[in-house]
Parts: sequence; C-alpha cells; structure tokens
Amino acid sequence: MNRFSFERAGSVAGAVSAIARNERARFIAGGTNLLDLMKENVSRPSHLIDVNRLPLNTIEEQADGGLRIGALVTNSAVAYDARVEQRYPLLSKAILAGASAQLRNMATTGGNLLQRTRCYYFYDTGTPCNKREPGSGCGALAGINRIHAILGTSEKCIATHPSDMCVALAALEASIQVKGPDGERTIPIAEFHRLPGDTPHLDTNLRPDELITSVDLPAKGFARNFSYLKIRDRQSYAFALVSVAVGLELDEGVIREARIALGGVAHKPWRDTKAEAMLSGQRATGESFRSVADAILRDAKGYGHNTFKIELARRAVVRALEQAAGTEVQQ
Ligand SMILES: Cc1cc2nc3c(=O)[nH]c(=O)nc-3n(C[C@H](O)[C@H](O)[C@H](O)COP(=O)(O)OP(=O)(O)OC[C@H]3O[C@@H](n4cnc5c(N)ncnc54)[C@H](O)[C@@H]3O)c2cc1C
Ligand code: SF4
Repeated sequence: MNRFSFERAGSVAGAVSAIARNERARFIAGGTNLLDLMKENVSRPSHLIDVNRLPLNTIEEQADGGLRIGALVTNSAVAYDARVEQRYPLLSKAILAGASAQLRNMATTGGNLLQRTRCYYFYDTGTPCNKREPGSGCGALAGINRIHAILGTSEKCIATHPSDMCVALAALEASIQVKGPDGERTIPIAEFHRLPGDTPHLDTNLRPDELITSVDLPAKGFARNFSYLKIRDRQSYAFALVSVAVGLELDEGVIREARIALGGVAHKPWRDTKAEAMLSGQRATGESFRSVADAILRDAKGYGHNTFKIELARRAVVRALEQAAGTEVQQ
C-alpha cells in the first residue's frame, strides 16, 4: 500500500471542493472495495476524503411517489427498509444476494455503484490489463476468462461489472444524483456505467470530481411480479456468473410491460429494450419467454472458457421470467 493523506469531509460542498483540488484524491465510504484495491496496489490515491459524516444517510419519500436513497445508506439498511421491501422487493432481493452480512453492513449505495470489476488480471499487477494500465494489453482475452463478458465487449476489455444492486436498479430505471464543482446533475442508470470500447479504464460517466449524493427510485416498483435470479459457483458469498432482474406488469396473464436486466454478462448491467418490447401484449408463456431470451443473447460472443455463459444466460432469462410471472417458485 502506498502512502496517503486523509481528511474527513464535513459537508457536501467541502467534499466536492476537496476532490476538485487534487486529481489523485479519492472519496472513501465503506472502504470494502477501495481498501482492497489499495492493498493490491491497483489503486494508488495520494489522498483519501472520508465521506461517512455527510448527511446522505437517509431514505426519503419523493413527491412523484418514488424513494430517494442517500449515497451513504448501507446496503443492509436499503435491503431491510420496510418501504423498499414492500415497494421494491426486487432491489431488496438483489442486494441480499450479494456479498455477506458483514460486508453489506459496511458497503454503501454510492460505493456499490462504483465498485470495480472482479477480473483476476485487473487485480494481478504482474499481468497486462488495459483497465488498470491503459495500452498494456488484456490478459483475459486469451487467458482464463470463465467469469468474463459475452455482450458489449471490445478487443480491449471483456470485464464484467460485478454489482447485484445495479442490475436491479437498471430494471427499475433508477437515476443517480451527483454533485460537482459546476453544480448538480442527474444520470439515468442506463447511462451511468460504460461499455469498454477503446477506453476500458473508464467504468462510468461520473466525472472524477463529482460526488454521488443519492439514487432515486421511480414510483413504479414491480412489487407484484418480479424476480432476481443469481447463478454463481457457490450458493452464497460469490459474485454472479449470470444474474437476471425482471419486473413484469401483468393484466390477466397478458404482459403490459417487461423489464429485464442482466448481470455478470457485460461491462455494465445489460438491458435490451427492443427485446423487452417484444413481450408487450404477449401472453406470459414459456414460448414468448424463450423468444425474448434468444433475442437478448443474439449477439453474444464467448471467449473460450466463458462460452457456456451464453446458454446459461438464455436459460436464466426464461427462468427469471417464469418466476416473475408466478409460474415457477422463487427461491
Ligand atoms: C469478499 C467480497 C464479496 C463481495 N460480493 C459481492 C457480491 O456478491 N455482489 C455485489 O454486488 N457486491 C459484492 N461485493 C462488493 C461490495 O458490494 C462493494 O465492495 C461495496 O458495495 C462498495 O461500497 P463501499 O461503500 O465499501 O465503497 P468504497 O470501497 O468505499 O468505495 C468504492 C468506490 O466508490 C467511490 N465512492 C464511494 N462513495 C462515493 C460517493 N458517494 N461518490 C463518489 N464516489 C464514491 C470510492 O472513491 C471508490 O472508488 C463484495 C465485496 C467483497 C470484498
Ligand atoms: S478483461 Fe479488462 S479488466 Fe480484465 S485484463 Fe482485460 S482489460 Fe483488464
């Protein structure tokens, strides 16, 4: 671990001006990802700005019927909030499928959005990685790539985004509120994370001097017909090989609206809104679910060890839709 200085921000404005003063400074919240990256020498900030005392730790009702989750609300507090459990059970279920109880008690909403990939080459500073060291190459392309992406990849990077929470947020069409030196702005979750393209070192469209202040959930929560299906190597305490978040609006067995987001398959939570639209007006049957799964995976590409994910994701989409429609029991 390299040497660094440390300060505690006392206000949102103070945190923003502190980060704007030093381009090698980083915010620290729960520290469950950043400290690991620092210990492995992957991240080398010269200054840490602790944001834990900022007044961003509440969940508030919004005028439009949605909820505003402060950036410092822990993953446990979100998952067990009675309003989230009742109105957004998909989000609650996705968060509880991730990490461990101890980690969820520390991990924050803002930090979860910005957690970095679990690609083993990214963590191993002895191997090439365009995300860690732009232009150095990619160890995973021709290496062990069992956990890597099958959709939206580039020849520069095939890493996946690891968060469970963000997959649910994508299906719910949440938006991220941020504050920087030029003021506040809102970033829809679909535009928050990036595909790797030629710039895999950039995970998100958040600017380096911006602070996440909250995540806003719209009123529609799909509380009746939802599913979060996470497939992983172990039953608990493991990142997703493939995960699927589904929200359905059903009217006597006919689908009015479908939202399907996938995790573990791309550099960002993956949605294909054209494929989703195929379900509108269709009966909730296995046949319509298989067609939409085929459409979502149409352009999927395997890299050897991870080619099994294409069929795994196809089946997971069908199963998650069946669970959301109530034709298969959820675990
Ligand atoms: C062993 C292990 C298993 C895990 N398993 C899972 C899993 O199965 N599923 C899953 O989804 N996650 C999993 N996680 C990841 C965990 O959820 C994340 O580490 C956590 O959510 C990060 O939150 P944090 O508050 O600790 O972030 P930190 O580590 O404090 O910060 C992470 C990043 O966010 C930045 N940051 C933090 N807050 C803000 C803010 N408000 N504005 C701007 N930037 C900010 C920091 O500068 C840093 O770059 C696991 C982690 C570990 C260690
Ligand atoms: S897949 Fe991305 S993160 Fe992994 S080694 Fe290649 S460039 Fe680095």
